[in-house]
Amino acid sequence: MLNELQTTTTLHNGVKMPWFGLGVFKVEEGAELENAVATAIKNGYRSIDTAAIYGNEAGVGRGIAQGLQQAGIGREELFVTSKVWNADLGYESTLAAYEASLNKLGLKELDLYLIHWPVEGKIEEAWRALETLYKEGRVRAIGVSNFQIHHIEKLMKVATIKPMVNQVEYHPRLTQEELRSYCAQNGIQFEAWSPLMQGQLFDNPLLKELAASYNKSVAQIILRWDLQNGVVTIPKSTKEDRIIANADVFNFELSEEDMARISGLNENLRVGPDPDNFDF
Ligand code: NDP
Repeated sequence: MLNELQTTTTLHNGVKMPWFGLGVFKVEEGAELENAVATAIKNGYRSIDTAAIYGNEAGVGRGIAQGLQQAGIGREELFVTSKVWNADLGYESTLAAYEASLNKLGLKELDLYLIHWPVEGKIEEAWRALETLYKEGRVRAIGVSNFQIHHIEKLMKVATIKPMVNQVEYHPRLTQEELRSYCAQNGIQFEAWSPLMQGQLFDNPLLKELAASYNKSVAQIILRWDLQNGVVTIPKSTKEDRIIANADVFNFELSEEDMARISGLNENLRVGPDPDNFDF
């Protein structure tokens, strides 16, 4: 387990999802985006995370096509995630949003489709649409993002299929232990967004000390901590050297004591919006 970049976790429906992937939030359409995606795939990444709201699905699709060709692998070896945006939450509108994402990405199906945010009163119909897509075999797995325990419990009152994944903000300043253990107990794979806290952890003295002692970078220490906690992680970078280095976390192990020290940095501090208090 956890010994190479293409290692997978098995979702509760049996689908295998890589533990490690590339995020592309805030990367605009263009050569930089396409190169980043292609570079990641060429260097062994097998998972790419995008969303309709990022406005970059077409470029991600072009990067995927280039990457698959350069790596000499087929589409089935790659795990692609996108997310339905808040404005499209509804039965018909979510079905249409899925088609729009597929068209932009140039793909016939997604490996994972997520409800991006738990908009009050809208998640039930959107989830029904995701269940339809799943039951019709149009998507390999479905899940949620930014869901707190109470959002999942509300969803489960109407759901016939349990979400396979919950993708939430997670890093050493926001460890969400209760949510993580709830997801683990319920067979919902926990996935970290902004695992590097969007760059705000690189000066942390403890992480720097650990980086020096393991002869790794701060980013590598954090990403390894994700994996050892059973958390899927999708750091974003557009720089080739960082894309390669970030994924070089399968050849060392943090001690239990150091894992606990990193978790001890928690301050319940978010860089992104609070799922219990957002207005978009
Ligand atoms: P991350 O925590 O992944 O941090 C990305 C930032 O860190 C970028 O500025 C990047 O810069 C920099 N960086 C990456 N690697 C290194 C390194 N080794 N050394 C120094 N700097 C580094 O932030 P994101 O918010 O992008 O989160 C990751 C992904 O999660 C997103 O891209 C997106 O796919 C997903 N996400 C999902 C959300 C949701 O609501 N579901 C919300 C937010 C993100 P550079 O590119 O210049 O290297």
